[in-house]
Amino acid sequence: MSIRTRLILTHISVILITLTIVAVGLIVILRTYQRDIQLARLGDAVVPLAFQARAMLQNDVPPKEIMMRLEQQATGVGNVIVINEKGLVLADAAYGLTNRNIGVAALQKPGAQRGFVWGVFQQNNLNRNLLYVAVASGQLNGQNVYVGLAARERGLLTVLGDIGMNLLVAGVITLIVSLVAALLLARSIARPITRLTQATEAIARGQYEHRVDTKGSDEIGRLAESFNSMAEQVQRSRQMEKDFVADVSHELKTPLTSIQGFSQAIVDGAVQDLASARRAAQTIFDEAGRMAALVADLLTLARLESKQMSLAQDQVNLTELLPGWIERLRPRANNCGETLSMEINPLPAIIGDAGKLEQVVVNLVENAIKYNRPEGTVTVVAKTQAIDNTGKNPLITRRRNASVPAQQWIRISVQDTGEGIAAEELPRLFNRFYRGDKARVAGGTGLGLSIAKEIVEAHGGTITVTSEVNRGSSFTINLPVR
Ligand code: ADP
Repeated sequence: MSIRTRLILTHISVILITLTIVAVGLIVILRTYQRDIQLARLGDAVVPLAFQARAMLQNDVPPKEIMMRLEQQATGVGNVIVINEKGLVLADAAYGLTNRNIGVAALQKPGAQRGFVWGVFQQNNLNRNLLYVAVASGQLNGQNVYVGLAARERGLLTVLGDIGMNLLVAGVITLIVSLVAALLLARSIARPITRLTQATEAIARGQYEHRVDTKGSDEIGRLAESFNSMAEQVQRSRQMEKDFVADVSHELKTPLTSIQGFSQAIVDGAVQDLASARRAAQTIFDEAGRMAALVADLLTLARLESKQMSLAQDQVNLTELLPGWIERLRPRANNCGETLSMEINPLPAIIGDAGKLEQVVVNLVENAIKYNRPEGTVTVVAKTQAIDNTGKNPLITRRRNASVPAQQWIRISVQDTGEGIAAEELPRLFNRFYRGDKARVAGGTGLGLSIAKEIVEAHGGTITVTSEVNRGSSFTINLPVR
């Protein structure tokens, strides 16, 4: 069943239920009101009859005779009855009540005159109540005699009959209005859903650039918005996949071309002497080495990203390990005429993979040496720092909520005094294959920082960079202590 049909059916049933409740409510309310109107009408009509009856009673006309004489004038309103002060029927024109006691009560409605009485009683052969109003008209055998008019009480459905037409008109109007409203509502819901469905199908067909226009802040608008952001992510990750394949092919092509060229030269006999042959072989060896390094990096990255590579969960004591890792790079720094200094404060042990963390630190220090200026300095500082989980100042947070312990972090920063990195380059630094101009010449793979990021994040940490052009860069790793 479509949304439209469902909405229309809901509207119709709500309206029908409302109309029924209104009708029942009106009947209940109007029932007492109806009786009052009927009593008033009988009361008005009985007054002239009572006048005539008074004269007849004075002339000793018997009740039955009075009833028959007056009955003619009562047609249309009710039937004449004559009762005594106890409620005993002395004469009755239509209902066969003679000699029955039908009860009597003073009419106490506002505006009723003295001497009026009324009553309501059930008659067995009628399924409705009888209602009467009578007026004291004289005396007979020492008892007060009342002459009255009786009529059947109007039933429930007659009340409905009076208002039924109006109710029906109101119902039809409401139904039409609400059907129009339901149609409009259904359209406003169904249209965007249809558009969303079409967009989903388009994306499934591979048209990743497809979007839905988002209008309004209602649920559908929000759905369209999240659909669009999902589509954007799909598009982006598809693009990244494509770029990745293109990048890898491109990266492999350069060393392969070089290997092909040199080996071709050897095969063609273009390399005559041993020294040239050795140079060609050396180049082939270097290029193959570059390819091997690239492939190894790619493999590491792919495994880290797909979470296939399981990190060791060892106790890692960085206070002991860091100096060794860094010292091994001192010769390289010295070769470049650079100074390597470190400040390793006592650090708590963390759980993690020492080999992988070594890779990260070594990569950062190697970069710092590689991209430094001649005779520059590389400084490694390691210390602990308390940062709460929200990254706010722990002293303030702790005072506010003593039960949240501040998280202990190990912070390792590697600082150089090199050329620095332009601000617009910074966001791309950790992307795969990102290389600065200088690195392209130096022959880096551009995967080192992506791998470092993956490893640090797999340890629950973060890696950030700040840099100032011509002053130097600072890479910082934050590792949580658990
Ligand atoms: P690679 O060093 O193999 O090129 P990385 O992923 O380690 O790849 O680094 C990516 C790029 O980031 C480098 O090519 C370089 O341009 C830039 N970079 C990294 N470290 C530094 C640094 N300390 N100073 C300046 N630039 C840097």
